[in-house]
Amino acid sequence: MNTNNMLSVIIPSYNEEEIIRKTASEVSRILNKADIEHELIFVDDGSKDSTWARIKELASDNPHIHGLHFSRNFGKESAIFAGLKAANGDCAVVIDCDLQHPPMKIPEMYLLWKEEGYEIVEAVKSDRGKESKMHSWAANCFYRIISKVTHIDMSNTSDFKLMDRKVITTLINMPENQTFFRALSSWVGYKTTQIPFVVAEREAGVSKWSTLSLVKYALTNITSFSSAPMQVVTLLGIIMLFVAIILGCIAIYQKISGIALGGFTTVILIILFSSSIIMISLGVIGYYISKIYEEIKGRPKYIISEQV
Ligand code: UDP
Ligand code: MG
Repeated sequence: MNTNNMLSVIIPSYNEEEIIRKTASEVSRILNKADIEHELIFVDDGSKDSTWARIKELASDNPHIHGLHFSRNFGKESAIFAGLKAANGDCAVVIDCDLQHPPMKIPEMYLLWKEEGYEIVEAVKSDRGKESKMHSWAANCFYRIISKVTHIDMSNTSDFKLMDRKVITTLINMPENQTFFRALSSWVGYKTTQIPFVVAEREAGVSKWSTLSLVKYALTNITSFSSAPMQVVTLLGIIMLFVAIILGCIAIYQKISGIALGGFTTVILIILFSSSIIMISLGVIGYYISKIYEEIKGRPKYIISEQV
């Protein structure tokens, strides 16, 4: 059982001017009603609308509300980590600003932490809400692949999670730059439990994800978490080698028994196959080298330009 009880609520916000007030009042109301000592940390991820102005107003009206403002859009991952770093609570919960993660669940998650001593409480999607068929199919593929390569079951996980101070300290001390919060927070281990939630409809504004940005997100996260794609290439190479050996034996046999034709087909096939594999390998290797390059530069994950 935890005796220090303060909860930090981390809310990454990007162009959320339409809903941010409602989110702040909903979350505050629910936490006050449940009698949970709390602070709200809005991380404005370089919004182009008046989100930051709203956050400043909220912070001056309510001493429990804090805000961080990025100098440009760094992405939700950076916003989450900035929030975790700024959190003063004994535990922290990360929640979307658009009320798609129901704040009513926070007291339940908090009690699991406080009374049962769970160090991570994950809210998992029991229903992904309204989404196009294509989107849920793509999401399923992504989570199946990433669960396989990372050995972490991530189907239906979300960023809606409550973490103990120990977990926060571990996460913010990770030296890596390209983080994938959803996977890292499982990877660190700790005593974990899950509760189901239903994804609500977005109440205002639009989703910040385009198809292209989701594909990029999937690629970055798979490569920053595993080198499995490289191993697949190696495997392809080995299979190709066997095929080449068999084809080679056949060709030699035909040559010896004098029934060899021009042999061009085999040659062309081999050239085609091996060159395509070489190209794939080079592509993958290049991708990893670019990752190494980005990590080695050691740029900060985000830059905070203002604070309230
Ligand atoms: N978000 C962010 N930076 C971004 C994109 C999104 O901080 O570059 C925030 C956004 O304000 C919201 C959360 O991340 O609170 C989830 O974004 P969104 O609703 O667009 O994603 P979806 O629910 O469609 O997956
Ligand atoms: Mg959303």
